[in-house]
Amino acid sequence: MLHMPFKLNPISMLICTIMIFSVAYSYDEKTYWKINDDYVADTWYGWDHSNRIDYYFDVHTHFPKVKNEQEIKSAIENHFNTLSALSVRKMCLFIHSDDWEKYKDVINKDNRIVPFIYIADKEHFTSEYLATVVKEGIKGVKLHSRGMLRDKKYDISFFESEQCQKFYSKCEELKLPIVWHFITALYEKERGKEQPLPFTRKDLLDAQLRICKKHPRLVLIGAHMNDLSEKRLSAIMDEYPNFYVDLSAAASLWEGEHFSPGFKKELQKIYTKHSDRFLFGVDHSLLVYKDTIVASADLVAALRENHWVWYVTESLQRYIKQLDLPQDKARNIAHRNIERILNIPEWKEE
Ligand SMILES: [Zn+2]
Repeated sequence: MLHMPFKLNPISMLICTIMIFSVAYSYDEKTYWKINDDYVADTWYGWDHSNRIDYYFDVHTHFPKVKNEQEIKSAIENHFNTLSALSVRKMCLFIHSDDWEKYKDVINKDNRIVPFIYIADKEHFTSEYLATVVKEGIKGVKLHSRGMLRDKKYDISFFESEQCQKFYSKCEELKLPIVWHFITALYEKERGKEQPLPFTRKDLLDAQLRICKKHPRLVLIGAHMNDLSEKRLSAIMDEYPNFYVDLSAAASLWEGEHFSPGFKKELQKIYTKHSDRFLFGVDHSLLVYKDTIVASADLVAALRENHWVWYVTESLQRYIKQLDLPQDKARNIAHRNIERILNIPEWKEE
């Protein structure tokens, strides 16, 4: 008979259980292990609560460089095929004004795509241009004013000029949300050390919030969490009911990473309170690949190996899932907010 070091009576079993749990919970915050009903899912594959979020609507996808209609069609298929296992079903696609002219027919035929016009120059920053493209199917605007400022063609005051105010008013009238990349931490570095910036990030934020206040019906979505912490965003959201952010290139947890318990609690409070203002977005281009993906015995592994977009999408989903929000709050972020903003129905399998 196997020799036991102690007798398995109820008391020793209880002591044993307490010891196991206390060891698990005594890990430092970084390697925090959660032992509960989710244990099996955690150990299998990241932190899978896939039963809780039915699908994702990516609000931040870029149009790739393509030569013809066939290439964009295959890029769209590649993209959705690749991300179907991560339940990405719809997207807002940012299409430059030049590309819109060439590819609007292809884009308009695909009901998984909501086209946003990508404006990065003064000539297209007009209410007249907006009115034209809306008639052609455009449902929102992507502004890349950070790029405009970097190229030194404009200064901040341009974005509050009469021309731009008219543009924002037109967005309100036509119910077009703006995804706006205006502020970024990298900006100062890019401009070079020897050329000090004539403005600070706070100047940019102040300008953006003045526009937000002046146009209360405008849905302003700061790209990349507007380069601010959740705590700061929460305070802004309290004050500005039309201010939103997408989570792209800002919120991510890589494989094996977990929130520390204290930080998670803090985030849970913010995301619960403002679950109607945070939007799922990945910030990737549609995938243009010559090769089709070969389904292997381990499709997930094959996809992971081939596609960076898989990693970034998954790491953002891990961030949202690990917040452990009530289901309706999590679904707000995953797809319902953008559906409400655009006034479109929920996605259904066809
Ligand atoms: Zn982007």
